[in-house]
Amino acid sequence: MTERLDGKPVAEAIDARTRSQIRERPGGAAPSLVSVHRAASSPFQFYLRRQARAAEAVGVRFRDEAFAASDGPDALIARMRTLDRDPSVDAVLLEHPLPAPFDFLRAVSELRPEKDVDGVGTANLGRLVTQHPTHVPAVAKAALAIARHYRLPIAGERVVVVGRSETVGLPLALCLAGREEGMNATVTIAHSRTTDLARALAGARTIFSCAGRPGLLDRKVVPEGASVVDIGLSSIADPTTKSGVRAVGDADAASLEGWAAALTPVPGGVGPVTVAELMSSVVRARALRSTAGVSQ
Ligand code: NAP
Repeated sequence: MTERLDGKPVAEAIDARTRSQIRERPGGAAPSLVSVHRAASSPFQFYLRRQARAAEAVGVRFRDEAFAASDGPDALIARMRTLDRDPSVDAVLLEHPLPAPFDFLRAVSELRPEKDVDGVGTANLGRLVTQHPTHVPAVAKAALAIARHYRLPIAGERVVVVGRSETVGLPLALCLAGREEGMNATVTIAHSRTTDLARALAGARTIFSCAGRPGLLDRKVVPEGASVVDIGLSSIADPTTKSGVRAVGDADAASLEGWAAALTPVPGGVGPVTVAELMSSVVRARALRSTAGVSQ
């Protein structure tokens, strides 16, 4: 039997901690998050609704700001600078990926590291490389929280991350290879130019997949007995559902059943934990700003 690694209990534990941290704050307004996104409908809209609900549930002040493609990249940079200076804002999240001519990395790097709550600006990625992160991307934190909760083999073990984006795969691999207690994995990073995925995955005890390729991981490539944390999230056509689409991960769950030691479901695995970790990072953003005595 393959163990199902549900995200719900992990998210609930994180939310409970976040709620009590907000309740016990020494005074002043609740921590605040601003989510900046494209005005046009995009997959991010789903994540936005989740953020609004999660913020309300734990007591984070939340608002979103939409920008139109016609605003242009300079207007987005100006908006990020304004938010960075706004003393009422503790944390800012910028939708990604952004289509050209927008430059996601340049825009998000306008934020001071404490406000760049998803830890994806240049300064935060640099701090992660040097093992002193200000914020770690919520999705990487979520994948690691699941691994910790279910005691997946990580420390000292061979672990593979499938995907190397600067916002998901790379930060996750850096955390896993880091010296923090429970990490210290021997990490391989696979990507679209990996010639033989099965060979790259051979001997892996735990696999984190963030390729966004449905069906990529089946028993032909995953070694028997490995645990799989499926971060991939894609939507595929499904006429049997009301919306006509269905969310799937990178893993072929049917193929891995009875083969993998453990697998996160999609939906219901990494997704709910990611939004919980985001709210936890907002509290951290507020605490870091208070400690630094930042007034703007
Ligand atoms: P991305 O920027 O498109 O990166 C995908 C990565 O996967 C790239 O490094 C790519 O390699 C690699 N890749 C693509 N096809 C591959 C293949 N056949 N074999 C091995 N590697 C392959 O995507 P992202 O922003 O990192 O997001 C990754 C996935 O995570 C997406 O499905 C996204 O929806 C999901 N996600 C989920 C959450 C959540 O809360 N669950 C949050 C954020 C993202 P190259 O570098 O060579 O192109």
